[in-house]
Amino acid sequence: MMAFNSNPISLHTVKKQLKSIVHIEPIWIDMCLNSCCAYTESYRKLTKCPVCGSERFQHKKPCKQYSYFSLIERLTIQYRNYDRAKELRYRTNYTSQKLYKCNIQIGDVFDGDHYKELVQNGHFQDERDVALLASVDGYQIFRQKSDDCWILLFICSRNSS
Ligand SMILES: [Zn+2]
Repeated sequence: MMAFNSNPISLHTVKKQLKSIVHIEPIWIDMCLNSCCAYTESYRKLTKCPVCGSERFQHKKPCKQYSYFSLIERLTIQYRNYDRAKELRYRTNYTSQKLYKCNIQIGDVFDGDHYKELVQNGHFQDERDVALLASVDGYQIFRQKSDDCWILLFICSRNSS
């Protein structure tokens, strides 16, 4: 609100205000020019793409990069806030209720067979584990179809009731 109440409002002002509140810096990762792979983990030191053989660097600079915001950083920030940390334990609180254990009604996704199967397979063992809703969509940026952009969105929602 501080950023949007400034006059005149500008992208610079909004970025500056957001930066003072929360660390939002993209992490840049080198990737193949043809989008075959990202140079992470076992590919971290490669100078050519293991799939298509294209060079990773041109004039000592990466030919292509992608950016992302760390999900772990976002969750760490949320767990630092007492109220939000309580909200993030919604799943644990819900599944600890007596009604849940009786298994007599469906009130949330955690009552479903899929969730219960995930728990039996060893997921959600820590009370701080959260379930994320993922959404993916891609689009062409330019008519020449030379580049496209993919948005991966992870939502950590809570039940408001
Ligand atoms: Zn490649």
